[in-house]
Amino acid sequence: MWNGGSGDRWPMPCAANDHWIPSSSPDARTSTLFLNPGPDMKRTAIQFLIPILLFAAIWYGLSRIDFVGETTTGSIGRETERRIGDLLLRQLDLKYQRVDNDSMLTVVDMIHRRICEANGLNPDSIAVHVFDSATINAAVLPGRNVIVFTGLLSFAENAEEFAGVLAHELGHITENHVMDRMMTEFGTTLLLMMSGMDAGSEVIANILRILTTTAFSRDQEREADQKAIDYLTTAEIDPMYLGNFLLRVSTKNGGRNIPEWVSTHPDSRERAAKIFERREEMDKEFAPLYAGDWDELVH
Ligand SMILES: [Zn+2]
Repeated sequence: MWNGGSGDRWPMPCAANDHWIPSSSPDARTSTLFLNPGPDMKRTAIQFLIPILLFAAIWYGLSRIDFVGETTTGSIGRETERRIGDLLLRQLDLKYQRVDNDSMLTVVDMIHRRICEANGLNPDSIAVHVFDSATINAAVLPGRNVIVFTGLLSFAENAEEFAGVLAHELGHITENHVMDRMMTEFGTTLLLMMSGMDAGSEVIANILRILTTTAFSRDQEREADQKAIDYLTTAEIDPMYLGNFLLRVSTKNGGRNIPEWVSTHPDSRERAAKIFERREEMDKEFAPLYAGDWDELVH
């Protein structure tokens, strides 16, 4: 319903100006009566005030957006994307605690850097945020942000499985799936308006819910899997474990806290099979990614 498409236009200030009354108009003279208004005049005053206040609110919202870098062709600039990402992160911060377990964060960072550096991506341009929640989930937010819940880290049986999921999320980022999806689902106008909203607003909460509880299109998921296999292989991490992870999620093995939309997703098995297929074509040995005790680290 929010899909405004690329033809969306901003309400221009001149549209709101239609509600202003020029001082030379006959109606302007009645404005002096506002000093001692009767019931009719009160109604008239409200009728005039509402568009003025709306205009002021829209103008205030627009003034907070840096239009440098924005285009009128339906795409929005990196700065707005980053702001939307920050807002969604603040919304997450209202709901969840960030993990402060240093050893866990160090290993997550080590894996992130290894995948990025092997594949020519700047690891510092993509942030990985770890939140404390039993839900088995990870997602990408605008502004090159990956979010990971501790439930996913502890569901992963080893560092390679987590690396597989992370590489998949990185694939969504480098293929620009997040903003493509945001544009399709919410439209340019709402995205531009969002950057002037506050964390904690209903709209932000709803958009966050959609981004963290629904899958991308089948094609985008497949594309991210293919990217993940490439990224992992280049980083000398066995991609087979991403297949294992997907298979376990699809069979609900261990069953707890897997969101319904993940476990009942018909594609998970098919996606795992594709990953195993490509792995078989490789004539390659991989060394273990993490020498420490993964279970101890994540529980
Ligand atoms: Zn995905």
